[in-house]
Amino acid sequence: MGERKPVQVAIDVPLAGTFSYLTESPVMAGARVSVSFGPRRLCGVVVTPIPGVGVAGYDAAKLKCIEMVLDGLPPLPEEFLALARFASDYYHYPLGQTLFTALPTGLREPRDVRRPDRRPFALTEAGLADAPPARQKARLALWQALQDGPLTQAQAKEVTPQAGKLLADWLAEGKAERVTPEATPLRLGEAPELNDEQQTALTALRASQGFQPWLLHGVTGSGKTEVYLRLIAEQLAARRQTLVLVPEINLTPQLIDRFAKRFPASRIVVQHSNLADGERMHGWLDAWHGEADVVIGTRLSVFTPLPRLGLIVVDEEHDGSFKQQDGLRYHARDLAVWRARRAGIAIVLGSATPSLETVANVEAGRYQKLALTRRAHGAARLPDVRLVDTRRKKLAEGLSEPVLEALKARLARKEMSLVFINRRGFAPVVACTACGWTSGCPHCSAKLVVHLMERKLRCHHCGWEEPVPRACPDCGDPDIKPLGEGTQRLESALQRMLPEARVLRIDRDTTSRKDAWDEIYRKVHGGEVDILVGTQMLAKGHDFGTLSLVAALGADGGLYSADFRASERLFSQLMQVAGRAGRADAPGEVLIQTQWPDHPLYHALVAHDFDGYAAALLSERRQAGFPPSTFQALLRADSPELAQATAFLRQAREALDALDPMAQGVLISGPAPALMARLAQRERAQLVLESPQRGALHRLLDQLPPLLDGLAKSHGRALRWSLDVDPQDW
Ligand code: ADP
Ligand code: ZN
Ligand code: ZN
Repeated sequence: MGERKPVQVAIDVPLAGTFSYLTESPVMAGARVSVSFGPRRLCGVVVTPIPGVGVAGYDAAKLKCIEMVLDGLPPLPEEFLALARFASDYYHYPLGQTLFTALPTGLREPRDVRRPDRRPFALTEAGLADAPPARQKARLALWQALQDGPLTQAQAKEVTPQAGKLLADWLAEGKAERVTPEATPLRLGEAPELNDEQQTALTALRASQGFQPWLLHGVTGSGKTEVYLRLIAEQLAARRQTLVLVPEINLTPQLIDRFAKRFPASRIVVQHSNLADGERMHGWLDAWHGEADVVIGTRLSVFTPLPRLGLIVVDEEHDGSFKQQDGLRYHARDLAVWRARRAGIAIVLGSATPSLETVANVEAGRYQKLALTRRAHGAARLPDVRLVDTRRKKLAEGLSEPVLEALKARLARKEMSLVFINRRGFAPVVACTACGWTSGCPHCSAKLVVHLMERKLRCHHCGWEEPVPRACPDCGDPDIKPLGEGTQRLESALQRMLPEARVLRIDRDTTSRKDAWDEIYRKVHGGEVDILVGTQMLAKGHDFGTLSLVAALGADGGLYSADFRASERLFSQLMQVAGRAGRADAPGEVLIQTQWPDHPLYHALVAHDFDGYAAALLSERRQAGFPPSTFQALLRADSPELAQATAFLRQAREALDALDPMAQGVLISGPAPALMARLAQRERAQLVLESPQRGALHRLLDQLPPLLDGLAKSHGRALRWSLDVDPQDW
């Protein structure tokens, strides 16, 4: 019997560190193994030890042996393990749970998996020499078909349904063999001639050397995808793989079809969470084994191993769906950048409205920017944006006269309109429209949120509370009220005032069914809709064809919000919806109802000035000490009782304060109730940790999980906590 040595195994359990198991024969890092863990049998992944965790002082006599090495597949590749380890470190999430989030479901079980051999069959010399007799029709037909060249199992079955059995026999008898298919020569579908701007961008991207992030800032329809396709064609010609990340909502059959038509001889693998487990796993395995040429998928596909990776594209890089909101709270764009750095390759981030994080990286010279300023197709122009000042106009249930008139005119001309309702939901800020005062926190740069029931203003950053003032503290005007009020009834009002209009509502309810979007597209493109009405969902990259009018209602609610990202989101959403207006022969019109017509955000929209407003927002963030000029992490806790969540966070804060965070350059605020304080019958509160130095914040975070595990135990099962690094939502 060989000497038993301990190895480290990462397991899908909510505990930091890895677990020691014994093995007699050496096992490689990345091997999947089956182990017993308490009363259960679980799948584990052998990893190199995490420095300082889980290796010290094991008692060899008490350790269990690995039950079985699941070696139907080779050990998971180094690039996959390295990315998972980085994600685990950066998001402060247990390595085991991180690895198992990154793996497709089929590889998470303690079951061996084999990759079906899909190589084609060919006859050997012996097979060629052994012609079947004429009376064995099926056998002869297959034998004759194979004279013309190798056949896959599927192709062989078209010759005869008995092909499976026949080929297995011939394989066993040495009459047939598996052959590695010759690399199919690259074929390219039809492509339009690039315009000057696209050509300039492509030339720059082609010359990219080593690791380099690029921002491709192009207005909607400016031909960004066309640029990606040209770059991918070059990767394919060089036998390299490309990873394309897209937001959930944009991964449409139309997009996949566009890729398939452009690269008809290449293997394109699609990865998203709604695929059947088997399908997802086989695509994943093909990518890992170098047999997929392009992987196109949503955020989870960032983990797909790609041994020949040559290029990463992140389309609509600003989109919120790249950030996972539970479990491993990773940002796929950020992990993709890390991956590109490690692989020493280019990564292209495309957007019409890039995130401020990316804009800041361009400013700092870390990312290079390329711009596409015109629509690629036809002669469509940018829409005319006009503000409707609602301070001096009477509103009928929230609708102004100019908006109603504009809608009626479109109806009469049988043109489609879109009404965008900005609904922020739960966290209104109080404002004075007379002088512009808003309820800011006296202790930090956050806005105070009004809680009407208790007549209180509350800071969700530091926890400060004060009564709602009766009049404006600056100018004395008694007419102060929560911003963005009154958008709730707009939809029904619209239908009542324009009874002849065919209104289609798009919101979470109407789009939750699986094929809801197909139905919506069918109606919209089939001319069955006069007015599209909807909330934030409309601002994502949908193709609604051309609209001649976009009206935005309730936009003001995003100007001054307790969530410091609200104005960035509002600006980006309004730019995106405005981008839907306009036809070849006439520019579209965008009307924005507002009580703040002098706000710089609206001025920038009227001038189509993304860069100017992004720069203004960035300097605001810098002054307020908000990301991207600082780095944040949220420690969240929830419990059926707010008191318990708060007590836990207060203890966490005391423990953190004992580490003297100020000396390390980290500011801690709270506990404060979360912006959405009550969710699913649980009360939620949070601590904010922030620092101008990413490194300083992370050194403090490193010490948190073990400390919190201990604290949480004393609170029992009712309490849950989580850490969100670079949180996007408050
Ligand atoms: P984006 O990704 O920026 O939204 P797309 O690449 O999808 O833009 O292009 C928008 C439309 O314009 C598509 O129908 C595309 O086929 C077309 N298009 C792109 N580039 C060109 C071009 N150089 N000439 C003509 N049409 C183009
Ligand atoms: Zn005032
Ligand atoms: Zn505050």
